[in-house]
Amino acid sequence: MMKSNKIQRPQMVLVVDDQEINRDALGVILEDDYEVIYAENGQEALEQMRAHSSELSIVLLDLMMPVMSGFEVMEHVRADEQLRHIPIIVLTAEKSAELQALKMGAADFITKPFDAHEVILARVGRIIELSEGRQLISTAEHDKLTMLYSRNFFFEYANRLFRYHPEMHMDAIVLNIEQFHNINALNGREFGDDVLRIIGKEIRAFLHETEGIASRFEADEFDIYCVKQPDYRALLNRFQEKVNGISPNVNVHLRMGVKPWREEVEPILLFDRARAACNMVRGNYQNPLMIYDEDVRTRELLNQQLLNDLRTAVEERQLVVFYQPKYNVQADPPRLSSAEALIRWKHPELGMISPGSFVPLFEGNGQISIVDHYVWEEAAKQIARWKEKYNYTLPVSVNLSRADVFDPTLEDRLVRLIQDNGLEYRNLKLEVTESAYTDNAKRVLDVIRRLREIGFEIEMDDFGSGYSSLNMLSDMPIDVLKMDMKFVRNIEENETDLRLVKLIVDIAKYLKLDVVAEGVETEGQLALLQNTGCDLVQGYYFSRPLPPDEFEKLIQREIDLERG
Ligand code: C2E
Ligand code: MG
Ligand code: MG
Repeated sequence: MMKSNKIQRPQMVLVVDDQEINRDALGVILEDDYEVIYAENGQEALEQMRAHSSELSIVLLDLMMPVMSGFEVMEHVRADEQLRHIPIIVLTAEKSAELQALKMGAADFITKPFDAHEVILARVGRIIELSEGRQLISTAEHDKLTMLYSRNFFFEYANRLFRYHPEMHMDAIVLNIEQFHNINALNGREFGDDVLRIIGKEIRAFLHETEGIASRFEADEFDIYCVKQPDYRALLNRFQEKVNGISPNVNVHLRMGVKPWREEVEPILLFDRARAACNMVRGNYQNPLMIYDEDVRTRELLNQQLLNDLRTAVEERQLVVFYQPKYNVQADPPRLSSAEALIRWKHPELGMISPGSFVPLFEGNGQISIVDHYVWEEAAKQIARWKEKYNYTLPVSVNLSRADVFDPTLEDRLVRLIQDNGLEYRNLKLEVTESAYTDNAKRVLDVIRRLREIGFEIEMDDFGSGYSSLNMLSDMPIDVLKMDMKFVRNIEENETDLRLVKLIVDIAKYLKLDVVAEGVETEGQLALLQNTGCDLVQGYYFSRPLPPDEFEKLIQREIDLERG
């Protein structure tokens, strides 16, 4: 192996072993390529390391030694800012010691009796190369904030475990924080750091009980490579509980993707899958755990198909718009007030697909605007058709995605729809989900404010699912608050939920906003909501989303009521 820097100065290797014969053997192997220095025990090793901390390229360390063992050396090294960067190869006869050594930061093993010369030289050379390369990227083996491994080291060690310990059945687990950038933006970086630190700490506690290693990656992703776990949900709950304890005022939601051990698959691939699984439950606060299995694989293939088929779907009008009524429940009997336009996909092969299966997918790649434009246009035409047919104007709300709000042609497009269909601005209401407001809030607020000035009514969708607090509402350009379904779901059983709903309604009233309760399914829920003063109700109790021809029956009924 030619090393360019050999010409300048040989790299320095420290060999630490209490047995002279071992030191000699390694010396013979290494001396042609390296400058070799020696130590007989841990104590001496540390002295040598400190004396040569800037020149040493690597340490070959025996574990069993008098005075100070190899493990103790590693402990000192790890705690020492000056020495931490020096890679250590452990010399050991005992397989069982390897994992512990790895956990303590060993970069590789050489087994006794010693392997062939070439093997040893290759390993030493490779680790030096790796560590030098790495030092350019990151000087630390550990992430300072969480004390978990940094990225490169983590995969290096995971690969080692995988290669040398095929008998260990390892899971890949990816943990991620929902909307971490918002958490930072709204609560400050300090708070964000606390969240990361606490998760890191709990992962380290977990790894004291379970064999494994972990890393933090791209701000808010945690990768855990550990022996097969019996209960992933319990594990996620364990981390979530720690996070819940940070602040009573901030909700931090974790999600988890797992690729359980099954057959021998390389760590990097395992983590790709675990990450894919984790991304599939992004924003899914109800069920934030996904285990990668055949279902996920099928799901990935399906996603691919949907991505491919979207253009055809638009051209062939496979996308159909359903309408779900909102009723004014303070009137007796409740009166039809407006409707929400909800997309469905009548796929020629896959049948009827609900938006939950493709909206998040297209939101991820920006194509959601294609869907949304289609829906807005359909909805505007539909309002006009009903106006014409029944002489009755049913306002319809349409959903706006984040990508729409950032589209510079948004305003023109909406204004044109109103004009082309002879509508008034207030006939087309715009639902913007709460999370869109908290993402990049300034820009969103400006755009929405402008639309509202023109005359569109703005509804904040899924309020309570994200991060806006009630006290932010007063500054927001909105007319209507749509409470997230989760508030309504349990109001019959859960006193706290009911009180929360009451609180939201009261504050909305105070701010002169209308309140819509979504997901109302039972008469009991309806009665409770009426008591809180909630104005509008949308849900299966009144009707599921319907195709236009079926919806017309509701319009007919409303017209009959009007006429008395
Ligand atoms: P969303 O805007 O919050 O819409 C309400 C969802 O709740 C609809 O689901 C509706 O069918 C469902 N729902 C209504 N009443 C009940 C009930 O009583 N019980 C239960 N369990 N569910 C009820 P859907 O139609 O599956 O839409 C899901 C989500 O997909 C929507 O949530 C919205 O975020 C998105 N979406 C739908 N259409 C569009 C669209 O045209 N554009 C965009 N960007 N997103 C859309
Ligand atoms: Mg909506
Ligand atoms: Mg909603």
